[in-house]
Amino acid sequence: MLMRRSSIAAALSFSFLSCSAFATDLAPQLLKKAEAEQKSYLATVKELVDIDTGTGQALGLKTVSAMLVERLKGLGAEVTTTPATPSAGDNIVGTFKGTGSKNFLLMVHYDTVFGPGTAAKRPFKLDGERAYGPGVADAKGGVAMILHSLQLLQDQKFNDFGTLTVLFNPDEETGSAGSKKIIAELARQQDYVFSYEPPDTDAVTVATNGINGVFLDVKGKSSHAGSAPEAGRNAAMELAHQMLQLKDLGDPAKGTTVNWTLVKSGEKRNIIPSSASAEADMRYADLSETDRVLADAQRIAAKKLIDGTEVTLRLEKGRPPLAKNPGSEELAKVAQALYRKIGRNIEPIAMRFGTDAGYAYMPGSAKPAVLETMGVVGAGLHADDEYIELSSIAPRLYLTVALITRLSGADVAP
Ligand SMILES: [Zn+2]
Repeated sequence: MLMRRSSIAAALSFSFLSCSAFATDLAPQLLKKAEAEQKSYLATVKELVDIDTGTGQALGLKTVSAMLVERLKGLGAEVTTTPATPSAGDNIVGTFKGTGSKNFLLMVHYDTVFGPGTAAKRPFKLDGERAYGPGVADAKGGVAMILHSLQLLQDQKFNDFGTLTVLFNPDEETGSAGSKKIIAELARQQDYVFSYEPPDTDAVTVATNGINGVFLDVKGKSSHAGSAPEAGRNAAMELAHQMLQLKDLGDPAKGTTVNWTLVKSGEKRNIIPSSASAEADMRYADLSETDRVLADAQRIAAKKLIDGTEVTLRLEKGRPPLAKNPGSEELAKVAQALYRKIGRNIEPIAMRFGTDAGYAYMPGSAKPAVLETMGVVGAGLHADDEYIELSSIAPRLYLTVALITRLSGADVAP
């Protein structure tokens, strides 16, 4: 038995070190190695989940950051940390130098949406085929997925990549204000970027939505609502009119949604309000939609209900989309081919969330090719019953290792 195991290991490392493509018969053996890794993967997830790292919680972020730095160094990475100002916590970058030419970035966030005390109240828990805990899927399971994929690559003594860079950021859940710049800078130097948000089925994501804010402001004129209403210009009434006119700014065919969600007006019931404002949440995948929505909104808003009011519209750009692009689709095809080798199917999907993959994607540039939801399969994100599917751990570890192996080789096509 022992002999057999070591001869498999020798065969694996020989093949990984050679330039040959990822051999069909080695895939099930790599999956077995990934299965053997599951126990220590779960120990890492438990360690991460049991420390609260809600965005902005400096102490917890610092503790987990120190842990991640140690883990990366232990795997042989050169590690640098920089403060993610204006957010609390550090951006952690680990770099491995290989002997090949293809550069990879593996990235995910280590902050969660949960307040202090959550981990103590409901710590990591295994239950049947699932594991529970705050941030277990989003995205601590992804952090562990990166660490243990690196472990597997190291076990095979694989270093045919050019550089392999890891980024852990502490502020994704509030929009990545302190990490978006470093994501874009690092991404620019890569051939491939994998982001480890969790999918809710066994899938990889080739497109994500961008997020914008649309702001509608109305200025009117105040007056006594009882004795001289006609002397006022009711900003709230004009706002209501505008919101009804502007309710169809979305475009279902392009996947663009614009929903008015915040409304403010008025101080007292007996005063005609002199100002009113509303905000809409915009999601989009087509890059031209930002300009289109603003232009349409301004054209439509010119038709006013109340003369003498002043209406202004502006749009604030948030997280950009990972727009539908050939590089991501090609990567998904390679992932599918590699998954078939272990008798499984993986779906390429587009999703309505916005993620950090949008900052990594360079519109109009062939590089890097970006693939999202490379993390562990899970659900209940941002909720008390968040969980991961244990059965997805080994196949998804296999996927990262197999992709890096295959894409580092001369023969990239599946
Ligand atoms: Zn996330």
